[in-house]
Amino acid sequence: MALTFDDGPGRLTSAFLDCLEELDVGATFFWQTRYLHHKRPFKRALANGHSIGSHAHKHRDLTKRSFEEQFDSLQTSVSLFSTVMNHEATLVRPPYGQYNKETQRAVDQLGLRMIMWDVASFDWELKEDPEKITRLVVDNVKSGSIVLLHELPQTLVALPAIVHELRQKGYHFVVL
Ligand SMILES: [Zn+2]
Repeated sequence: MALTFDDGPGRLTSAFLDCLEELDVGATFFWQTRYLHHKRPFKRALANGHSIGSHAHKHRDLTKRSFEEQFDSLQTSVSLFSTVMNHEATLVRPPYGQYNKETQRAVDQLGLRMIMWDVASFDWELKEDPEKITRLVVDNVKSGSIVLLHELPQTLVALPAIVHELRQKGYHFVVL
């Protein structure tokens, strides 16, 4: 199964990298390229074996845009990864998980692969309840699952328990 973290890089990225390193787990991050001035965690994330995909340039619903606008947003994002970070991004997760036929066409034309999820942690709604985040993830993961998480404080609190409980159930963590 795979852990994915959306909406970085940001002020908690280094703490997530510390936590993942301590847990010895690889993960996949989907980052908005408007935040690429956070260069240090970027290099460290790649050096630690994590994968980084595009969460578009800005966090806007792509489905409200024309094909050309969607294509431009994704192309801007992958070319910034390439020019600023020397990183060839191949994975994309559309903001809000919203996509349509035009998004898929833009993704295909740019040679990217869209990665969605089958287990939502609802971490964005559970600020006060990291244990509920853990339960939602651990109780719903199956072999091959992709879990949606975010770089949020409550998710950081829940992460060690998520990893320990899934390991106890025999799951391995893959990087996409
Ligand atoms: Zn997002």
